[in-house]
Amino acid sequence: MSIGDIRDIGDGTRSVRAGLPEPVAYEPTLPGPVFAAHFHLPGEPTGPYTYGRYDNPTWTHLEQAIGELEAPGRPAHTITFASGMAAVAATAFSQLRSGDAVVFPDDGYQALPLLHERLRAGGVEVRTAPTGGDAQLRVLDGARLLWIESPSNPGLDVCDIRRLVAAAHEAGALVAVDNTLATPLGQRPLELGADFSVASDTKGMTGHGDILLGHVTCTDLELATAVRDWRKTVGAIPGPMEAWLAHRSLATLQLRVERQCGTALVLAEALAERPEVTGLRYPGLPDDPSHRIASLQMRRFGSVVSFVLPDEERAERFLNRLRLVDNATSFGGVRSTAERRGRWGGDAVPDGFIRFSVGAEDPEDLIADVLRSLDQLDKPQD
Ligand code: PLP
Repeated sequence: MSIGDIRDIGDGTRSVRAGLPEPVAYEPTLPGPVFAAHFHLPGEPTGPYTYGRYDNPTWTHLEQAIGELEAPGRPAHTITFASGMAAVAATAFSQLRSGDAVVFPDDGYQALPLLHERLRAGGVEVRTAPTGGDAQLRVLDGARLLWIESPSNPGLDVCDIRRLVAAAHEAGALVAVDNTLATPLGQRPLELGADFSVASDTKGMTGHGDILLGHVTCTDLELATAVRDWRKTVGAIPGPMEAWLAHRSLATLQLRVERQCGTALVLAEALAERPEVTGLRYPGLPDDPSHRIASLQMRRFGSVVSFVLPDEERAERFLNRLRLVDNATSFGGVRSTAERRGRWGGDAVPDGFIRFSVGAEDPEDLIADVLRSLDQLDKPQD
């Protein structure tokens, strides 16, 4: 039975049943991927399935599932994409025209400046301000779209989403929230008033570090139609296999997120005790600068912990000596990863800044691995 219209169920139940079609005798619970460039199409092309760039039954199931997670008990429209950036770009380009102004965070995902360049080239005024302190409020005047990333990646700053949404709507701006870090089990932007909940599903949503995917969810049909039309135009569509794998992965979303967020807090608490660690950020830590606002709008605080080691050399040593943590980018996967973020050159972070993505390992094993590596920080590499 579809649980789309039930509000009062737990996240685990919702995760395992999200987007499942009504049972059909002798058919699988989750139908397999449909590989089709075109569909039999007698007469007028009214759909639902006509051509593979327009729609696909495997996307329909996944989009239903994501909608149920993003907006439980409410009708929602989800459009899935080939990657998170495809979803981000579709939201921006489907809404902004030459002469419009848009407000972005200046501490968000490091590919956003690439998008700014494209928007500017198309005559859009791009303004930026930090996530922390709700600073985006100060540059909102006359904007058509406010883009929020909270918690921000990689600095983990948080803004008051309800407050920013209220001010933006008052000023006639739409609001998109990049919810990649939190996932809908950690935060539901649409319930906080946002017009678009956008995410890279490459991260915690699918959680295995093996597919790229993204989505946009809105409750307004007109906005959703504009995003869907953009996907049709640029063709940034998910492959059916990726869409099916993503749907399968959603069944374990609550299990993964619960474990990963729980261990992230334990890791943050352990790091807080270490003298060589500075700049520690985790919104779930009671004395984190973001904790108060995060507690008002987040249900779980995410799987990413950020901190700073004394310099680049020690940070690299720390990463090299970890046995259970892969030195890799991205986050939200079941296998812990960490990286020195400064190596990309796109974030305003110190040389020793580490973004640590906590996986589903046993917490005591992971913490022991981290502490052992920290204990050897001053010992030169063999
Ligand atoms: N938004 C955030 C917050 C991200 O961290 C990322 C990727 O790291 C993206 C968007 C882009 O996602 P993708 O790599 O799936 O295109």
